[in-house]
Amino acid sequence: MQSGTTGTLYIVSAASGAGKTSLLRALMERDPRLCFSVSHTTRQPRPGERDGRDYHFVDEQGFRRLIDADAFLEHAHVFDRRYGTSWAAVDDDLAAGRDVLVEIDWQGARQIRERLPDCVSVFVLPPSRDVLESRLRGRGQDSDAVIAARMAEAVSEMSHCREYDYLVWNDDFAVALADLEAIIRARRLATDQQARAHAAALAQLTGGDAAG
Ligand code: 5GP
Repeated sequence: MQSGTTGTLYIVSAASGAGKTSLLRALMERDPRLCFSVSHTTRQPRPGERDGRDYHFVDEQGFRRLIDADAFLEHAHVFDRRYGTSWAAVDDDLAAGRDVLVEIDWQGARQIRERLPDCVSVFVLPPSRDVLESRLRGRGQDSDAVIAARMAEAVSEMSHCREYDYLVWNDDFAVALADLEAIIRARRLATDQQARAHAAALAQLTGGDAAG
């Protein structure tokens, strides 16, 4: 379909270490109306990741074939690997009026904003540089050089946060989750969304003239 969508597409980006993944997991559990888009990637699966659930894992050739077939809504190089959101991952759900969450980087977010201007984009930030660094360190026994490289990547990703519609600080998990829910709730209450979702009720209330 690739246009004329009726559900809302929510883009969520963050620097690694901001706690985005746990937040989105909790959000999905609490909001059964949200669908999660499964991306394609050329990186190797990590332990515990399943093909088709966490990502569609493809090789470089397979990824190129999808680009040539115009299968991607967006795609980008992230950490020297390719990542992309296929139209197939979002289109049916959006067309059926369901809201879709895509967890992607700033480059992909830019592309989606151009193609689907009605999307809503959110950037999740850590409370401070110190907290981010200690979260990155807390993940394992990485060397200072590795941590410094991750911090530089994180700062580079966060430098794009002003391109987003909303900024959510992940200091207190519960507050950040409530903030994400508030963004989604407000969007669902917007007049254009309500008019679509409740066309018959509005027509009845307004004597058939709810066009505005
Ligand atoms: P990871 O490999 O740790 O799962 O993800 C690495 C980075 O790639 C994260 O910043 C994530 O947001 C980004 N990413 C994941 N899927 C996509 C995608 O489909 N498109 C783009 N542009 N970035 C993605």
